[in-house]
This record gives sequence, C-alpha cells and structure tokens, in this order.
Amino acid sequence: MRLRHKPWAKEYIANHPQYVISSPSKKDKSWKELFNSDNPLYVEVGTGKGKFLDNMSVKYPHINFVGIEKFESVLVTGVQRVLQTKPTNLKFINGDVNDLLEYFNSEEIDRLYINFTDPWPKKRHEKRRLTYKSFLSLYEQALHPHGEIHMKTDNQGLFEYSLESMSQYGMKLKNISLDLHNSDDEENVMTEYEEKFSEKGQRIFRLEACFRA
Ligand code: SAM
Repeated sequence: MRLRHKPWAKEYIANHPQYVISSPSKKDKSWKELFNSDNPLYVEVGTGKGKFLDNMSVKYPHINFVGIEKFESVLVTGVQRVLQTKPTNLKFINGDVNDLLEYFNSEEIDRLYINFTDPWPKKRHEKRRLTYKSFLSLYEQALHPHGEIHMKTDNQGLFEYSLESMSQYGMKLKNISLDLHNSDDEENVMTEYEEKFSEKGQRIFRLEACFRA
C-alpha cells in the first residue's frame, strides 16, 4: 500500500479521543464502559481508512465495533469519516495488532475481521502475515471461546496460506468462498480494498474460522 505521509495526522487524531483510543493499555475503562453498552464487540485488524466498519456500524447498530490501524496518516481519513457519520458504536485504536492483548482483555472480542491485509508474499516475511501462528495465538486469547474470525482477501496466496495456517493451528473452518461476489452472500459489506479489487475484476476469497467448534 502506498502511504502518503500527513504530518498533521497525529495531532488531528489526538484531538478526537471520543473516536480514537491512542493508548488503550492505559485506558482505565473496559470497552463496555467506553461504549456504555453490553452489546457484542467486533474488531477489525488493519482497518485502514475505516470504511467497512463505518458501514457496518450503521447496518448493525446493536454491535460495538473497534478498528485497529497502525498508521496515523491512514486512520485520519477514518476519523474524518466518523466526524461526518457520528456513530455511537464505532471507535478506533491507533496501534499495532501485535499489541492486541494490551487493548483487550482475554475473551473480550466476539468476532474478529481480517480484511485485505498485506500478503507479505516473501517467505522471509511470513511472520508479518496477520494469519501467522503467533497472530492466531493472540486472537485465540482475545476472542470469546465461541468467537469467530471472518477473513476476506483478493490474494489467493495469502488465502491458501491462511487456510493452511489456521487448520494447522487446529481451528475449524467454515463457509469458505473462492468467489464471494459470485456467491449468495447478500449480507456482504464491502471494504475499501474490496471495492477497488472487485472493480478490477479480481476474485474475492472469504472464510470463517473458530478455535472451538
Ligand atoms: N481492511 C481495509 C480494507 O479492506 O479496505 C484496509 C486494507 S489495507 C491493505 C491493510 C491495512 O492494515 C493498512 O492500512 C495497514 O497499515 C494495516 N496494518 C497492517 N499490519 C498492521 C498491524 N500489525 N497493526 C495495525 N494495522 C496494520
């Protein structure tokens, strides 16, 4: 992904603490308290500019959504977006997925979305893929025992790798689609990257996975 550096982004984000938690490890409230609701908690890792979660928060008002994005220059567009749409059930974390357990208590997340994350195709970069076993271990700790992971990608190599990584980890896989946009999934909410790739005619792959049946 090409990243345009926005030197003002850090301060802009810091000025909107109602939408972005910048140091969740220092947060003194649970997510239920932050949202002031007991609704289920769905998290997107690598949320980018937040379009998917913004649309999801409208479609599912009884779910609380949190998006994690490490680059301020990307996340700032998500903040500008929610300042227009003003959702009460969406917040962002400006941070790294590697620190997931600083942001969430164990078993706190009900569903985790991994959408169009970087494929890191070189073997020596395998550990950076967000479906590498060390990330699966973080997700396992943060997810509710009956929680699910939903993943979408245009990248066949990352998809095959993820199927393998998850099944080797002992996860149960279901609802696998090798061509999402030519399947019956009427509930699908497109992400920003999904729109770009499908406009170019690329196939979209999707899976659901859980740690316990
Ligand atoms: N999910 C969005 C979508 O489908 O439109 C954005 C996809 S974009 C290709 C992947 C995003 O994940 C980038 O904005 C990148 O900065 C973010 N990302 C990658 N690794 C991350 C990590 N370890 N922690 C937080 N964000 C990460």
